Amino acid sequence: MATEHGDMQALREELHQAGLRATASRIAVLRLLRRAASPVSHAEVTEQLQGEGFDRATLYRNLFDLNKVGLARRADLGDHVWRFEAMQQGGHEREEHPHFVCNQCGHVECIDGVELVIPRGAKGPRAIRKKAVEIQLKGLCDRCAAA
Ligand SMILES: [Zn+2]
Ligand SMILES: [Zn+2]
Repeated sequence: MATEHGDMQALREELHQAGLRATASRIAVLRLLRRAASPVSHAEVTEQLQGEGFDRATLYRNLFDLNKVGLARRADLGDHVWRFEAMQQGGHEREEHPHFVCNQCGHVECIDGVELVIPRGAKGPRAIRKKAVEIQLKGLCDRCAAA
């Protein structure tokens, strides 16, 4: 098992390799994204790192920096809030995947193993054939469905 120190060292090196300076806040943000089970917004990152002394604006820039160098993916799930998730999780590259959003409480979940199949000669914008689109599943989460 990796020690806390070894973990930090690995994140520092990854940031360097991506061309970013390994600041304390970038390390903290990348670590948070790697541990998160679903995409997180700037507000959630700010809340979860509260007490570590980073300011909101810095954390905001850090999220976009990580996105720019390919360490994080960015998604707008229809509510005009950018959410971020690590490109890698558990040491391997995370595949492109749809997200489930609860209509009622806004709960977001990553859904693996679902693929968009585009038939030959499909109509619509070129982005569809290039798969430069995001799939989003909407409905009620288990908790809201049970209520
Ligand atoms: Zn819900
Ligand atoms: Zn996801």
